[in-house]
Amino acid sequence: MVRKGSTQQSSAPYNRRIVLDIIRRRGAMSRKAIVEKVGLSPQTVANITQDLETIGLIVSRRDKSEKSRGQPPIAFDLNPQGGDAIGISLEPRRASAALVNLIGEVIDRREVEIDVADQTRTLAAMKRLVEDLTRSSLSGGRLWGIGVAMPGPFDATELSFVGPTAFEGWQDLSILDDLHRVTGLPVFYSVDSVAGALGESLFGVAKALDGFFYMHFGVGLGGTLVVDRAAYKGANSNATEIGHIPIVPGGRPCYCGNNGCLERYLSLHSLAETLGAPDAHALSATRIIELLERKDPVVINWCRNAAEHLRNAICIIENMLDPESIVIGGSAPKPLVEHILMAARPFHRSVRGGIADDSRRVLLSERQDDSSILGAAVLPIYKMLSPRFDVLLQDGKSELELAGMLGHKPTGGAGRL
Ligand SMILES: [Zn+2]
Repeated sequence: MVRKGSTQQSSAPYNRRIVLDIIRRRGAMSRKAIVEKVGLSPQTVANITQDLETIGLIVSRRDKSEKSRGQPPIAFDLNPQGGDAIGISLEPRRASAALVNLIGEVIDRREVEIDVADQTRTLAAMKRLVEDLTRSSLSGGRLWGIGVAMPGPFDATELSFVGPTAFEGWQDLSILDDLHRVTGLPVFYSVDSVAGALGESLFGVAKALDGFFYMHFGVGLGGTLVVDRAAYKGANSNATEIGHIPIVPGGRPCYCGNNGCLERYLSLHSLAETLGAPDAHALSATRIIELLERKDPVVINWCRNAAEHLRNAICIIENMLDPESIVIGGSAPKPLVEHILMAARPFHRSVRGGIADDSRRVLLSERQDDSSILGAAVLPIYKMLSPRFDVLLQDGKSELELAGMLGHKPTGGAGRL
């Protein structure tokens, strides 16, 4: 589905994002093609493309592939040098970060061990990552900002900061204000599953999908529902926290206080626990793959059990939400996820069965962990790139700075593009 523009005067920023979004999704497009897709007047589209080109977000060239008499039409495309952004994915023991350009290419990537319980050092580590990555920027130092992805949920009294993905000692996210202060860059944050879904939607296997469910399989298990290319947030922005759906009556006690939650059976933490490792971080991807390759009975058995729960989870998600696909990403090694998914077949009967191509019902991310980093990096620029995929803004101030970078003077109220 292509979103239509709006003709109201107040919708100018919205229309810019619409135009940027269609160019990003379709690639090089002529002005005429944009007009046809977004339903705005030729004059409005001409103004917008001119503005976007002046700002440096898009570039134009003669599209020689189009057959026409006379001059070939001008095609607009995103400008890879239109500005970079930094994405940071935080886990309790690891910070992974990348410098990403406007078209989603990773220019540089770094990873450091951290201990989030030590906030001073975590802040220093993030600052260093930002400084190192900034040096690799090819866009003349134009940085849109920093996006940070971290495990959720946020501000959920009974669930925030509990369990293996908990950030010990974190009472709030004021460290992100500090990151803004020490780097001078706008800082945005998001739950990792929302960032992952965003990364997949913009650059990954979900690029062509309007609606899908993203399952974030990492130390814990999270989920995000994307409807009409927007993340469904729920009443308090914590919707689809699938890891804490009770799935086994009287099952394993969960850190959330309930029993038998899905995450207790389907997560790297659950695997580590079964293998007697101190925690999921002590279990490297290499080690997991090695155990899997030599058919370690404990791992194979865990996978069989996890697959049973995944099969049920797929059925629940499909029957509840009828998504075009379920996309599985996150830090779990791909061979492990492939193995579990294979064992979860044949899927249960559901509303998607017999309608969706069976191979398309569940898709595996090709970027795994990087989809969250990519999604996080996009947070600062996403306000321009797509009109709907809601992100959790840290504060309105960042938005104003973003507006400033786009050539608009911040004028109180909401940021404008
Ligand atoms: Zn739970």
